[in-house]
Amino acid sequence: MLDTIFALATAQGKAGVSVIRISGPKSHAALGMMASVPELRKASVRKLYWDDVLLDEALVIAFGEGASFTGEESVELHVHGSRATINAILNVLIAIPGLRPAEAGEFTRRALENGMLDLTQVEGLADLIDAETEAQRIQSLRVLSGAIGKKVDAWRQKIIRAGALLEATIDFADEDIPVDVMPEVKDLLSELIVDFEAEISGVKMAEQIREGFEVAIVGRPNVGKSTLLNALSGRKAALTSEIAGTTRDVIEVRMDIDGLAVTFLDTAGIRETGDQLEAMGVNLAIERANAADLRVFLTENGDRIDEVEFFDEDITALGKLDSFSGDVEFQADHRISGLTGEGIGALLSNISSILQQRISGAGLLTRERHRVAIQNGLIALRLASDEVFNVVPTVELAAEELRSASQHLELLLGEVGVETLLGEIFSSFCIGK
Ligand code: GDP
Ligand code: MG
Repeated sequence: MLDTIFALATAQGKAGVSVIRISGPKSHAALGMMASVPELRKASVRKLYWDDVLLDEALVIAFGEGASFTGEESVELHVHGSRATINAILNVLIAIPGLRPAEAGEFTRRALENGMLDLTQVEGLADLIDAETEAQRIQSLRVLSGAIGKKVDAWRQKIIRAGALLEATIDFADEDIPVDVMPEVKDLLSELIVDFEAEISGVKMAEQIREGFEVAIVGRPNVGKSTLLNALSGRKAALTSEIAGTTRDVIEVRMDIDGLAVTFLDTAGIRETGDQLEAMGVNLAIERANAADLRVFLTENGDRIDEVEFFDEDITALGKLDSFSGDVEFQADHRISGLTGEGIGALLSNISSILQQRISGAGLLTRERHRVAIQNGLIALRLASDEVFNVVPTVELAAEELRSASQHLELLLGEVGVETLLGEIFSSFCIGK
């Protein structure tokens, strides 16, 4: 029999309420040692006692087997969120035979093992717990709710149907087949291939939502890059000075821009320099700027920065607008002043719309692991399709490829081959999840 496990499910530290979760065959019995067990799934207030000592007055919910997060009999104790209360209750639980503290991710692991969640939902849950922006929240919640599983089920129906039609032609090989099934098989395969291709193309975008974007501020020394970073972030993140070569390390400021996670990089001003430390900063600036998702080239005199590649959609900005009087004879997408804040709003909204555009094709699949599974499935479908479209179709081979495509979908949902992945996925979970 499995151990009954328990852990604090809410964050460590002081809080109004903290939730302790207990899951496993002895969870109701454990609650019963402290209070009377309420009706299932009915939140009830209970005084929790141990050896006649009052531990806390808590909101208590008992869940039955098959009807809880883990799929096991389980209990939630919503207790007062003080360290002393939590410690008192955890100390009682640890003393009950058959109960032990949960390992990181163990509740979720049990949910997976009991079929309450598929593997993509587990990943969605991890992402939802980590979500910092609205786009991340929406995306991870969609995955957690089982959207990938639903899509996979629909694909699987089609694969099964195509496979069954092919099997029928094998069984009837020596007889007359009443109808030619090949057109339907061809249609099914073509639809699947189009769907798989579309999903694969959206993974990169979905990953960008999860991982966020990097936007580098690039320019010669003293053009006002650090001042711009401070203006964008609304705080003094970087030192600014009239001394050229002040910034050396890359300074990162993480922001939420209209629901997207964006990290701005303030970098060393790019120039030839004899100062060894500054030169290291310049090299780092070039490297990070080239690798960023978007660059803002800041200038005060129209200088070009050839050391950093200018990509499509990169932005040019004329800085220190407040110090100019009269006309400026060069083109820039934006005119800004980091000092007065002029033009910063427009720059931010331009950055936002460029990045929003880049995630607009995000599909259901959110991870490289998903992409690999679907890519392999696609290869199998294409091979099956080649067989079917042959002048003399090799039906057995096509059916075999369809089985292989199905297996890749099973891998995606974690129905097979899950053991090797679990360690990696659950390592990102904290205790109590
Ligand atoms: P960086 O080397 O590109 O990071 O430039 P800094 O942000 O350190 O600024 C260099 C100098 O230019 C400092 O003295 C800033 O006060 C000044 N500066 C920066 N932005 C502006 C601006 O928008 N207007 C004016 N008038 N001065 C600025
Ligand atoms: Mg600087």
